[in-house]
Amino acid sequence: MSNSNYPAIDQADIVIVGGGLVGATLALALNDSDYKVVVLEAFSFGDAGQPSFDDRSVAIAYGSSLLLRDMGLWSNLTSLGQPIEEIRISERGRLGLTRMSAAEEGVVELGRVIENRLLGECFAEQMSASSVDWRAPAVVEAVTQGETSHSIDYRVGQRKHRLEARLLVAADGAQSSTREALGLQTEQTDYGLSAVIANVEHQLPHRGQAFERFTKTGPLAFLPLTDFGGRPRSSLVWTLQHDEAQDWLACDETTFLQGLGEAFGQRLGRLQKVGQRAVYPVSLTQSKHCATRRAVVLGNAAQALNPVAGQGFNLGLRDVATLVDVLLSAQGGDPGADSVTQEYQRLRQPDRRATIRFTDGLIRLFSNDIAPLSHARAGGLLLADVLEPLRQRLVRQGMGLRGRRRLRGGRYG
Ligand SMILES: Cc1cc2nc3c(=O)[nH]c(=O)nc-3n(C[C@H](O)[C@H](O)[C@H](O)COP(=O)(O)OP(=O)(O)OC[C@H]3O[C@@H](n4cnc5c(N)ncnc54)[C@H](O)[C@@H]3O)c2cc1C
Repeated sequence: MSNSNYPAIDQADIVIVGGGLVGATLALALNDSDYKVVVLEAFSFGDAGQPSFDDRSVAIAYGSSLLLRDMGLWSNLTSLGQPIEEIRISERGRLGLTRMSAAEEGVVELGRVIENRLLGECFAEQMSASSVDWRAPAVVEAVTQGETSHSIDYRVGQRKHRLEARLLVAADGAQSSTREALGLQTEQTDYGLSAVIANVEHQLPHRGQAFERFTKTGPLAFLPLTDFGGRPRSSLVWTLQHDEAQDWLACDETTFLQGLGEAFGQRLGRLQKVGQRAVYPVSLTQSKHCATRRAVVLGNAAQALNPVAGQGFNLGLRDVATLVDVLLSAQGGDPGADSVTQEYQRLRQPDRRATIRFTDGLIRLFSNDIAPLSHARAGGLLLADVLEPLRQRLVRQGMGLRGRRRLRGGRYG
């Protein structure tokens, strides 16, 4: 690429590469700051190819709603999605069952399930009312590290542009080319599994219940969605061996609903209709470091978790909240200073490691059908119900409450 292709060099305090769930949240959270923030996102909101705001749904844990509230972003989301009032965990063919409920935890809801596409619409509206410099479609092609700033080369259609930023934020997803350009090493774990996702209509109302069921092939989750045309429905994440997942993707609707009904049981009555099915890999990609000179990495670019426990976006939101805190404290100074990037990394590492351990352990434990393990699991689930501290650990991770204290009167601060 020759420099003559570029218009005059643009300058920004902070450039966010990737305006998906995590990058867009960060940009909106920094809207009232003194920093000049630019977002470079490959797809416009509403584009059919947008990989973040697609047909999936995301369970936003209670703790994440507190973070979004603190960042001034929750009130726009409260009219969207379905609150989770209870989570029921069980194993096919075994006795073990544990549950957690909003009432017992003293909270209004354990979390909220929102369709990604609706989140995209909501973010698009907020973005156009904000002062964020949102550039989409804009594909980042190269990053060059300098002493006092990064140069970012990006393309809009056939036109090439260059931007300079004091702080570069990589939020461009699991395959992050920005992370690679920064020379950050990753570790990959392939669990040999795939997740089939779809929206499923069922006979009985879900009454705000989410189900996590451990089957012979792997975990199967039903997350409650808002009714569609008066018909109750849930979002399915069904973990299977790769070839089985492909078979369930390709088969006709009747066969699919019958097979799913056999794996899940009758808790929601007859399964009546399935929407568009899609398959996602069940894997883990983690960057050892989440900061380097004048750059930080967050969301899936820092750690793309397996989707089984619904923790990825919740962890990404905690990345966002920490970065916002650190950047606001450094206002008036250099946002790319080592003191900022290293502080972000220091604060994020314990939670990243613990959440990766939790989600990795869960998939290894529950996708294994060895008999003694299976019995121990069933015992474990019953035991978890009896042993309050153990159950509380499950609850706190699931609700995204790591690091939050329970206040007098039961509320979480
Ligand atoms: C089936 C499934 C179910 C899930 N359910 C849950 C759940 O219930 N709860 C939960 O917390 N998490 C869940 N997750 C995880 C969640 O989807 C991710 O954690 C989240 O999407 C991460 O957002 P992100 O913005 O970091 O990355 P992404 O969503 O991957 O977004 C990256 C963005 O960067 C853009 N981009 C990429 N390269 C470039 C480039 N070169 N130039 C410009 N832009 C670029 C992309 O267009 C995209 O918009 C689930 C994941 C899956 C697969």
